[in-house]
Amino acid sequence: MKEDLAIGVDIGGGSVKAGLFNRLGEELDKSVLQTSGELSNARFLEIVQNTISPLLKEKNIRGIGIGSPGPLDSETGYLLSSANFPLLKNVPISKTVRDRFSLPVYYENDANCAALGESYFGESKSYESLLVLTLGTGIGGGFVDKGKLFSGYKGNGIEIGHMTSVIDGAICGCGQKGCVESYFSTRGFINRYAEKTNNRLTNAADFFDLVKAGDKDAKEILRFGILCLAETVRNAIHLLNPEGVVFVGGITESWDQFGEDLSHKIRARIFPVLNERLKIKRGKNLAGSLGAASLVFSHGMRGPE
Ligand SMILES: [Zn+2]
Repeated sequence: MKEDLAIGVDIGGGSVKAGLFNRLGEELDKSVLQTSGELSNARFLEIVQNTISPLLKEKNIRGIGIGSPGPLDSETGYLLSSANFPLLKNVPISKTVRDRFSLPVYYENDANCAALGESYFGESKSYESLLVLTLGTGIGGGFVDKGKLFSGYKGNGIEIGHMTSVIDGAICGCGQKGCVESYFSTRGFINRYAEKTNNRLTNAADFFDLVKAGDKDAKEILRFGILCLAETVRNAIHLLNPEGVVFVGGITESWDQFGEDLSHKIRARIFPVLNERLKIKRGKNLAGSLGAASLVFSHGMRGPE
């Protein structure tokens, strides 16, 4: 019998990336198309389908997993709106892809896909339950328990980046105030640094270079950011009691500048009984398309059948 395969599709800000994967997480084929912000529903759906279609040469593909930023409805498979594509509204992603290719389609928030991918193919795959935080432009989160993703009612749960760090604090991209991602994320670091210095940085690497060079303001922003993130993770641990907490995303490239301090601050703030068992680590930054393909593997394709 030929091995089962899954297609994973990662819808990002500037491109749609699709990959064909086997159960070992090996990428056998891939396809990428660029996108621009000014896309109508119809044109956007056409690009998604055109990215997937070159990968359908094999007969043994068991499904298509799709991940994108939300808000979305994972039950009906609609993307409700998108910060990257402002013209999109109520896009029927799952139905369109299912009708076109006659395969099962699963659709979830990209941070949830990242968490599932980490639990299937990351170094923490032996953990019974796993909380994953994606540290990038903002902060995303996903929770996997016994191989199954928990994404809340219709798929918009575990939005860890929008838990409150400072009541009535700095304005967040979501429109509310004081969210943790306003204090620990690329956008958060850039905005907090601009507030203090009138100097607008372009990326997180520049921010961490300033920290390394001993810049007083950057160091203070990072110190407070770590504290905010540690308190947020503490809350999440007391709520979910995961076996492991794993950090992924672009900002983990600078893990050596904050990882140890963050881990220490989290451990210092949780129940001792949780601390003894909890694992905290940096993850592998797997491809978004592999995370999306994990949606197919998690729907009845795991282990011997
Ligand atoms: Zn927010």
